[in-house]
Amino acid sequence: SQRVVIIGAGIVGTNLADELVSRGWNDITVVEQGPLHMPGGSTSHAPGLVFQTSPSKTMTHLARYTVEKLLSIEKDGHKCFNQVGGLEVATTPARLEDLKRKHGYASSWGIDARLVSAEECFRMYPHLNNEMVLGGLHIPSDGLALAARATQLLIERTSKAGVRYLGHTPVTGIERDGRRVTGVSIPSGTIAADIVVSCAGFWGVELGAMVGVDIPLLPLAHQYAKTTAVPGLVGRDINSLPNGMNAELPILRHQDKRLYYREHGGQYGIGYYGHRPMPVVASSLGLTPKEVDEQNMPSRLEFTTEDFDPAWKETQKLLPALQDTEIADGFNGVFSFTPDGGPLLGQPSHLDGFYVAEAVWVTHSAGVARALAQILTTGRSEIDVSECELSRFEEVQLNRDYVTETGQQNFVEIYDIIHPLQQRESPRNLRVSPFNARQRELGAIFFETGGWERPWWYEANKDLVKSLPPSWKPVDRDAWSAQLHSPISAAEAWKTRNAVAMFDMTAFHRFEVSGPGAVGLLQRLTTSDITTKPGTVTYTLLLNDHGNIRGDIFVLRLEDDVFQIGANTATDLAYLTREARVQEQKTPGQWIQVRDITGNTCCIGLWGPRARDVIAGISTVDVSNKGLPYFSLKNAILAGIPVTMIRKSYVGELGWEIQTTAENGQRLWDTIYQAGTLHGLIAAGRSAFNSMRLEKGYRTYGADMTTEHNPFEAGVSYAVDANKKDDFVGKAALQRLSSQVPSRRLRALTVDDGRSMILGKEPVFYNDKAAGYVTTAAFGYTIGKPIAYAWLPGGVSEGESVEIEYFGKRIKATVETESLYDPEMNRLSQ
Ligand code: FAD
Repeated sequence: SQRVVIIGAGIVGTNLADELVSRGWNDITVVEQGPLHMPGGSTSHAPGLVFQTSPSKTMTHLARYTVEKLLSIEKDGHKCFNQVGGLEVATTPARLEDLKRKHGYASSWGIDARLVSAEECFRMYPHLNNEMVLGGLHIPSDGLALAARATQLLIERTSKAGVRYLGHTPVTGIERDGRRVTGVSIPSGTIAADIVVSCAGFWGVELGAMVGVDIPLLPLAHQYAKTTAVPGLVGRDINSLPNGMNAELPILRHQDKRLYYREHGGQYGIGYYGHRPMPVVASSLGLTPKEVDEQNMPSRLEFTTEDFDPAWKETQKLLPALQDTEIADGFNGVFSFTPDGGPLLGQPSHLDGFYVAEAVWVTHSAGVARALAQILTTGRSEIDVSECELSRFEEVQLNRDYVTETGQQNFVEIYDIIHPLQQRESPRNLRVSPFNARQRELGAIFFETGGWERPWWYEANKDLVKSLPPSWKPVDRDAWSAQLHSPISAAEAWKTRNAVAMFDMTAFHRFEVSGPGAVGLLQRLTTSDITTKPGTVTYTLLLNDHGNIRGDIFVLRLEDDVFQIGANTATDLAYLTREARVQEQKTPGQWIQVRDITGNTCCIGLWGPRARDVIAGISTVDVSNKGLPYFSLKNAILAGIPVTMIRKSYVGELGWEIQTTAENGQRLWDTIYQAGTLHGLIAAGRSAFNSMRLEKGYRTYGADMTTEHNPFEAGVSYAVDANKKDDFVGKAALQRLSSQVPSRRLRALTVDDGRSMILGKEPVFYNDKAAGYVTTAAFGYTIGKPIAYAWLPGGVSEGESVEIEYFGKRIKATVETESLYDPEMNRLSQ
């Protein structure tokens, strides 16, 4: 087995040691700067509330495994999880509605949950003020993790299995030989290792700095207080249970006021997110003292009473029994926040053997540890953890200013009702395409992704809505789905299908892969034969060894050994970079350069039946079907501007992605825009684009399909070349999978009433049983109905009826044959 050093003996580090041991690894050292019996990190004082359900399937499943595991760890008959259930109460109508949405998430991800009336909340939780509560959501399998106790039991059991624990031992450096980690430095010397995993919690930034890795987490203080004894709670049997198993009331959330509660024997514990964000720099906290106790640990800062005042007043309203109590003990406890609220899991691309598992809540701790142990031992995690990937951030998102601002926002918004399309107000305009000035003139409404500003629709197209033919008139929406939406998108889709529109495609990731080893690399990593002639475009998949999909990309062969890759995420770049390096080491001389060219290029998607007319007005380049067939590309000059024209389309219409370098961008935009006026050209945004994408059935990686799915289930086996001679990652697994009947499938659904909207992640019921979930959804303007893609059991056939639950309401839908629009591809291949 590999030699592993884990830095940090909190709930994450100890779980990781345990997960590795259970997979047969036996050379593991855990190094902890604090005393092992109470290391003094966030785990040492975590109240341990585990609310499993979230909008994220990944996070919910990481939590569900944590619950299962903590329930299985016991000593002397006492478990490490007190399954008291979780109750979230609504005190506003908006929250009451939102709990319905949350109930939907629970059904989607397989968590048993029940919406309960105000009376039932009160029965379950007699201390509640029944005049305030409107209703609740009860999740019986939620509860309290006894995190500190679990950590001790894990240390005990893994020590017996041979794991070495070094307490009072700070890691002061990370040793490396070139791009490979070789061990860690501690005050008494070094510990050699093949793999070093930083589970250092909110000290992650400092650990990352030791190897030049920016860790985008922000330590923030969060207030937690215990009351004096509550008359109605004292004197019960539960107080005799050891080690904090001292609660029988459900854990309680009052998210309208950013509060949560648990019972501590006769006392109440109160957690508060409503106070000002209080950032902390871990290195300023000093060394962990020799002796750590409940009151004295680096992660516990002094309580600032004035910040807690509103929480205390609100608490006494919600729980009147607390009016007879006082705050007995409070502290500002430190833990980590990230720019998108997710944990950090994985490795940086430039260094081998260094991994992190940080910004992880107790709630997800065992799940994250298992995922990483699976990655280390088998190369992949069974739960898709793409959204936790350390490498998911763009460069612009890694600087401290960005992390500090967004981390604080996530703290403030942690209990807010968040619309799936909600946009942050700041920081904005970090990355803008060269077309930005023109887009503003056209009244673009921008949405942000990866720091990029992307037009969602253009107010300049407003008047077109009035002239839409009756079958294209947008239907009225419910208030929730009408948010961050405009009927202008219908007009933009109409123009694309009937005339021509230009879309800003700049924010899509573009990488250049070049050099003598480039063919070998792409041949090894993709499911297609990319040894085609220069000028060819290939849609292909990146798989893992299990035949599951880790990405879908476009490979554009520009020259014999120069390729352009159209990819989805920064993680794809990290993967290609790493694999290129691994390959170069194996075949010296066959160098490969992988370069992100997204920012120094820009791209316009020009699509619609009149797209050729627009080009004819500015160039003599042959863009006939023969001159530039579907899935081919050529270099051309458009009105003096050098461009690459790539014949492909996400929206299912004739046209090209027209790419040039950034400095030519604005002129390219102006040229096409002016040439297009004669032909009814408009600028159109992502909202219309998404609708047309779904009509064509083009999948979005990360939402419609993930590493949990194989190409046959996801309906993308057409991107696998069954005759490819060369070996590629996942080939052997695919051959096995190809003979199996998929047990689930990604299906296209349309809504029967033609108007009820769905936004994504809703549960789908088949024969009245929760059977799957929606991935992405949009109104299909061309087909005149809402469309939802959904994972469903393999046996559900086309033409069958299902129901989608949206805010507690059942919406009837039908499983359709794909594609919903132009299945013969006539529009694309004319
Ligand atoms: P830690 O427990 O901080 O462990 C990291 C360890 O690394 C530390 O012991 C540290 O000493 C060690 N270390 C750091 N640097 C070095 C070094 N250079 N050398 C050696 N060792 C090093 N989560 C929930 O799920 N539910 C809750 O209800 C909840 N409530 C919370 C309430 C409060 C007040 C706070 C502060 C946090 C709460 N959390 C909760 C969050 C949760 O406590 C943390 O996210 C979790 O404990 C982090 O675990 P960890 O193992 O990653 O980090």
